[in-house]
Amino acid sequence: MSEPATLADPAMLDKIDKLFACNVGEYIDLPQLVVVGDQSSGKSSVLEGLTQLPFPRDSGLCTRFATQIIFRRNKELSVRTVTASIIPAGDSGADRASQLKEWSAGWKGGLEAEHFSQVMAEVHEKMGLSTSEGSSQSTFSKDVFRLEICGPEEDHLSVIDVPGIFKNTTPGLTSKADIHVVREMVEGYMKNPRSIMLTVVPANVDIATQEIIEMAREFDPGSERTIGVLTKPDLVDKGAEDKVLDLVEGKKLYLQHGWILVRNLNQQELQYGNVNRDLEEEAFGRKAPWSSIPPDRFGIKSLKNRLQETVTENARRTFPSVRSEITKRLRDSKNALKVLGGERETPEQQAGFLLDIVAKFQDITYQALSTNYGANNIFDRHRDLRLATIVVTRDTEFADDLNKWGHQYEFNIDDDFCPSSPSICEGETTKTRKVQNVAELEDVTAEQTQESLPSDDDDINQWLGDLYLNSRGFEIGTFNVSLLATSMKKQSKKWTNFARGYISDIITMVHKFIVKTLEIVSGDKRVYSSLVSIMMDDLLEKYRCALNHVDFLLHVERNGTPKTLNHYFNDNLQKCRQQRLTALLKKKGVENLSVTDIIMQDHMSNDEYTVQVIHDILESYYKVARKRFVDNVCVQAADYFLVTGPETPMKLFSPAFVNRLSPEKLAEIAGEEASVRRRRANLRKEIRELEEGRKMLI
Ligand code: GDP
Ligand code: MG
Repeated sequence: MSEPATLADPAMLDKIDKLFACNVGEYIDLPQLVVVGDQSSGKSSVLEGLTQLPFPRDSGLCTRFATQIIFRRNKELSVRTVTASIIPAGDSGADRASQLKEWSAGWKGGLEAEHFSQVMAEVHEKMGLSTSEGSSQSTFSKDVFRLEICGPEEDHLSVIDVPGIFKNTTPGLTSKADIHVVREMVEGYMKNPRSIMLTVVPANVDIATQEIIEMAREFDPGSERTIGVLTKPDLVDKGAEDKVLDLVEGKKLYLQHGWILVRNLNQQELQYGNVNRDLEEEAFGRKAPWSSIPPDRFGIKSLKNRLQETVTENARRTFPSVRSEITKRLRDSKNALKVLGGERETPEQQAGFLLDIVAKFQDITYQALSTNYGANNIFDRHRDLRLATIVVTRDTEFADDLNKWGHQYEFNIDDDFCPSSPSICEGETTKTRKVQNVAELEDVTAEQTQESLPSDDDDINQWLGDLYLNSRGFEIGTFNVSLLATSMKKQSKKWTNFARGYISDIITMVHKFIVKTLEIVSGDKRVYSSLVSIMMDDLLEKYRCALNHVDFLLHVERNGTPKTLNHYFNDNLQKCRQQRLTALLKKKGVENLSVTDIIMQDHMSNDEYTVQVIHDILESYYKVARKRFVDNVCVQAADYFLVTGPETPMKLFSPAFVNRLSPEKLAEIAGEEASVRRRRANLRKEIRELEEGRKMLI
């Protein structure tokens, strides 16, 4: 090099290069210098001028991949040494990546000689790029070719030479898709807010036609990181020079770092071989009108100075945040890896994973049933997981419904419930299901029905009278016990729909609880849905048992022999009689009431009297039976079979369930999807590389 490097902190630039080498550039925007421009704008020529190395130039085609060139000064070396390697594209698979990483080449000297084209051929092959026309392989690669050039005299400079963007395809070489690929690749480098863009534009064309200018404006509207380079001034038409001078003087397309004009060698001069680039440029600069350009805006030396200033400034400005960004990104990727959970390759890992889910599921179930809702935030987010509360609420509704709507005929005397209360109006109906049905439970739940109010008191006398007259035998003053069974069956007809509706609601609530909780604790949609589908049959069986038990209780209460040992039956009966007397007392007044009245009950006929006795016994028994039924349905069918009892379906999801699964089933449920495995591998790679990078900064 003709000039000593005057970089403020080569150690810092060195660190940045090392970060690139361990691929940190893949995750964090690192400060760097990129050379961008349209195809054949002179990018390679500018780099060649800057580095005084004959640059990798493919005369046939532009560069097909980004090349990172790193210059390092090493006083210990006596000659320049070049080390070439490949940084695999971020999206390459693990195998490809390690294959590419394995490759490297090193030699002493420059980039000239056949040796270099041999290396390039190897690189093309490694990257899987087409080497012949019409090949099916790709034309461009996102891998980065890395050239590290160390020597006693090198300047500390690191630069990325990217493929030139282009608008027209070359048949057999570049396709429409390639235009896009290259554009994206270049944009990727330009978007990096910590990059300095050396934007190369030929002076001999209309600047408006240069796409790169537009792109630079887009990604760097304030032109804070754009350095303009004008090439090919020797090809500018006579008379058009003023336009170029306007640019250099900042009168047009103003850039903060300005435009610098350079004159490179043309094709012929290059082929000729022994033309000195710098002398040629100097001579050119002495000619009018170029001689009017201030020295700091003309020539490769000025460009170099400007670059070093800008690159150092940029590194100093952006570097401190790089470190904190690495730390942050590392934290994020570690979190992401944690969210993925443990690896699930072997049956043991898979079983372990499921057992973990089981434990979480059982925890939530326990909290839900012991109303320990404060223990977990999910009870705030999902109210329907507060299982104990929603079940108890439904229990109460069931009891109230049966009390208000459950009997076919209104009793004559009713202390529990007043039919004239304003909350009820004629023709009112109620629904037996309160919870939206779930399609998958159709087979084990009852359909929605509408029930109307019990018919009022004239009807019950009429009904019981008919019943008695049509079934009496030779009894006198009493009645056949089967009459009670018959009337009870009729009176409790609506219990079936109410009880089946109630249990169907509880089944639905429990099912929703199980499914929702599983979804939450699985964390993985696929695990969750295969768990649900594998357990579905067993769940349905449990639900069916609960429904069957309701049918059993219905049968016992409605078809069995009326029976009770509960003294409330007798209490009720006494109460009925007492109420009749009270009514009589009110009607006649105390002074007019005789003992006969009391005993003879208002001079009723035998039949009337028997019907009244039947009524009172039915009412007394009905009340006891109804309360017993409600309790039994809630305690046995709901609680024992569904909620807290030994048969609750929540218990299906237990460690024993996991242990019973065959290895195939385990893999089916808990095995990881390829995409998750890939993501885990990528995150591990990222964490490894970022950690390596962070070490570099200490
Ligand atoms: P790249 O595709 O952007 O890398 O462009 P190159 O550096 O390969 O240059 C393309 C062609 O333009 C080559 O033949 C160069 O010799 C030629 N060239 C580059 N700069 C100049 C210049 O300043 N003057 C002249 N006359 N030709 C140049
Ligand atoms: Mg080039």
